[in-house]
Order: sequence, then structure tokens, then C-alpha cells
Amino acid sequence: MSAAEANERADAAARRLLNELAGRGPDGIWSAPGRVNLIGEHTDYNDGFVLPFAIDRRTYAAIGTRRDTRLRVASTHAPEVVEVDLDDLDRLFPAHSGTDVPEWAAYPLGVAWALRRQAGAAGAGADIAIASDVPVGAGLSSSAAIEGAVASALGEVWGLGLDRVALARAGRVAENDAVGAPTGIMDQMASMLGQPDAAVFLDCRSLETDIVELGLAAAGLELLVVDTRVAHAHSTGGYRERRAACERGAAAMGVTALRDLTVDDLPEVAARVDDETLRRVRHVVTENQRVLDTVRALRSDGPRAIGALLRASHASMRDDFEISVPELDAAVDAAIAAGAIGARMTGGGFGGAAIALVPREDAATAATDITRAFAASAFRPPHVFTVVPSAGAARDA
Ligand code: ADP
Ligand code: MG
Repeated sequence: MSAAEANERADAAARRLLNELAGRGPDGIWSAPGRVNLIGEHTDYNDGFVLPFAIDRRTYAAIGTRRDTRLRVASTHAPEVVEVDLDDLDRLFPAHSGTDVPEWAAYPLGVAWALRRQAGAAGAGADIAIASDVPVGAGLSSSAAIEGAVASALGEVWGLGLDRVALARAGRVAENDAVGAPTGIMDQMASMLGQPDAAVFLDCRSLETDIVELGLAAAGLELLVVDTRVAHAHSTGGYRERRAACERGAAAMGVTALRDLTVDDLPEVAARVDDETLRRVRHVVTENQRVLDTVRALRSDGPRAIGALLRASHASMRDDFEISVPELDAAVDAAIAAGAIGARMTGGGFGGAAIALVPREDAATAATDITRAFAASAFRPPHVFTVVPSAGAARDA
């Protein structure tokens, strides 16, 4: 099934679900995409640089307004309809236990809560039906997609007049404070601001963005995603431990965030912290530089010039930040052996997905070779598919 077909099916599924939920058609349908981070991993919470792009897989929110103040949400991914009163959102969030609403519902309800707080507007109740073709939990940010679709829908239905960055912020508040996942704002910004065949260069300190043309099709390149199907979880100790190490490194150097260091500072870092902290810091500092180098290379020489930077990024995550797993390393190695010009794990690590930048004529062989390499290591078969850098959140109907 092509991505366009999958999008159409998800759109239709959202309409159907709204019909079941509310016995009516939608007042509007909004969608927002998942994302892949091309380069810049674990740099976001260090005030650094990231270069994600929106993908051609989307989450759809069909919305029907109500005359009362009830908010009802349903998803084709969830067994139950969740209903709350808008006036109860402040009692539900910030979430401490997660027992009041099922976890999935904290994403859309958390967005509603964040928007009301942010815009200080009352807004009427709504029925929201959600359907998606973004794989959940595969590192493609299905969470930002559901947040972006719901934020765009409610932002417009409630007439809040918020720009895309403000909607991204609401998604982040939902994820951090309603769901309780300590993530940065990269995913939401990519999902809101993405453009076809382009990446979103984001300065996570200033939140300034710049669109960077990728020119993949013109260069005869495809982007493969290898979903290892190894479950990742941002809330696990590994993620927290990495953040703590970064804070330790910044404190030892007397800077606000690792963003304030350059590769020239690394010898001094080495003199002040233990070896493990040094390696964590080195990853972040060199990764920030690689993002800047990637943007420069894309602009001056096009996508074929970034292969070495992608490979160096993976090595840094594997050896210095230690967030890779054997499945991700196997995916990267097999992709390179099959002709990829660059490959790296993407996302938070400890599982999830890898990406490979592959000449179009090698893409099919690369997919087969990666699957074969997984079988040889007795890993679960991966899901391998292409993604196309695509438009961000939009109103579809
Ligand atoms: P990722 O963002 O990498 O896919 P996360 O753990 O951050 O993984 O977010 C996945 C969670 O987001 C799911 O477990 C679910 O709670 C929620 N979610 C995402 N998409 C949907 C959806 N279409 N319907 C309901 N919940 C969703
Ligand atoms: Mg997520």
C-alpha cells in the first residue's frame, strides 16, 4: 500500500469512527505527520540543534463540535471512548498517577488542557475521532502526530488564532505534563512545520527554525526506515541517566547547557569529569557540530554529501552515548554494506528505528539484505519501508 493510500484509509477511518461516536459527519478533519530525525540526537534537551523532517505517514483527527462542555475522544488504536468535562481538565492534569484517564487519552486531552491554559479561552465541547497510519512506538513520533492533529483541530475550532509554533508548544506541554514523558520539542516542531522534500533545522534554545531543502528525489536517493521492533521507552532509566550526565557535564564546565561548548572545549571537559561523563558530553558536542555541518553540506553540495556525517553520528551514539542496541547496529552495518551512503539509528535509542540514505537503485536490495542480516542474528524480522519528507500539519477537510 502506498503512503497516499494509507493516508486515505486513515482519513476514512477517522470519519467512520466519528460517525460511530457522534452519529454525524465531521465539522473538519486535521492531520499531522510523524517525523524522522535526520541528524541531531539527544541534542534537543541540551539546547542544541536538530534536523528532523515530517514523513508521509499521518494521524487524522475528525472533529464534531458540541453545544455542551463535554470532550469525548476515541481512537482506532484504543478500546475505549474517554469522556471528560472541559472544566475537569485542570483537575486531571498535571498527571501524577495516570490512573484517571487511560494513557493514550492523556495525549489528546492533554493538548486540550494545554491549549486552554495557553490561550485562556473557554471553548465548547467536542467529539474527536482519531485514526493513524504512523506506526506507534517505532520512533517515528506517533505521539507528536496525535498531538499535532488534535492541537490543529481544537486551535481552529476554538478560534484561538495560534501559530504553528504555539501549537507545537501545546503538544509538548501535553506530552511533558499530561502524559509525563520528559521529551524536548523537536517532534512537535517537525510535525507542525515540515515541508515536502525538506527538513526543519531547529535551534532548540531559541526555537528559531529554518527550512533546509533535501533534494532527495533529484539526487536519486531514498530514505529507508528500519523499524527494529525493539520497544523503546523514553521514561526508562537510560534516558534519564543520559540527561543527568549532560547536566553534570554542563555544571562541571559552568555553562547553562552543553550547547554552549564546542569541540575545542573537550580537553577541558576531560580534565573535569569522569570518563563516562566525558563520552556523554563528547557525543552531544560533536553531534551539534554534525548538525551544523549537515545543513551546510546539504545547502552547498546536496544530500549525497552527508553520508559520512550520518555514519559518524551513529558511531558516536553507539560508542560514546551508548544508546544503540545490536539490532540498530546490524541495521546500519547491513545498509552500508548494501550500498547506503549513510545510515544511523534515529530517535531516543534503546530500540526503535534506524534510517539509511540509499541510492534508488539499491533500495530494494538493501531492504532484503537488512532483513537477511536480522535473520542471521536471530533477531525479530524488522519492518523496512521508505519515508518521503512531507508537509506538516494541515486541514484536510
Ligand atoms: P512514538 O512517539 O515513538 O510513536 P511514544 O511512546 O512517544 O512513541 O508515543 C506512543 C503513544 O502515543 C502510544 O502508546 C499512545 O499512548 C499514544 N498514541 C500515539 N498515536 C496514537 C493514536 N493514533 N491513538 C491513540 N493513541 C496514540
Ligand atoms: Mg513520541
